[in-house]
Amino acid sequence: MVRPRRIRRIFFQPDVTYFKPAGIPMIDLKETILSFDELEAIRLIDSEGMEQSKAGKKMKISQSTLSRLLRTGRKKLADAIINGQAIKIQGGNFKMVQPRGKGLGMGRGRGFGGRGKMGGPLAAGPGGICKCPKCGYEEPQIRGQPCMNKKCPKCQTQMIRK
Ligand SMILES: [Zn+2]
Repeated sequence: MVRPRRIRRIFFQPDVTYFKPAGIPMIDLKETILSFDELEAIRLIDSEGMEQSKAGKKMKISQSTLSRLLRTGRKKLADAIINGQAIKIQGGNFKMVQPRGKGLGMGRGRGFGGRGKMGGPLAAGPGGICKCPKCGYEEPQIRGQPCMNKKCPKCQTQMIRK
């Protein structure tokens, strides 16, 4: 009999899901994939200081599952930092629980990877587009800031006006 995987409840999804070491070209970069349920275990226990038994109850999982998530998640973070790898947060076996009655910041009801790269105040404005001639990365030009003064956040090449 195949044991069904229990769905873990998580209460937090980060807006930032990719961490890249500075100064390493993307092509040389190795990625560590951290799942959302591992991240939640680390958040509850390491960041918030919650006891394992309490965190397990909150996520509706057994303590052994929780400590496994914690162990694998911590190992991935440690390996990434020690070996200079990028960290990508994605996947996992979880259900996002919306906190009730909370306003801004929480409760964005999207799945992972839902939001576009542009967003926020920088996307606005009637200015032009700055483009990376090397990798093609584009972003809106900020008024009063020439594209040539910017470097591509992905490959550090000087950007040009599109
Ligand atoms: Zn680039």
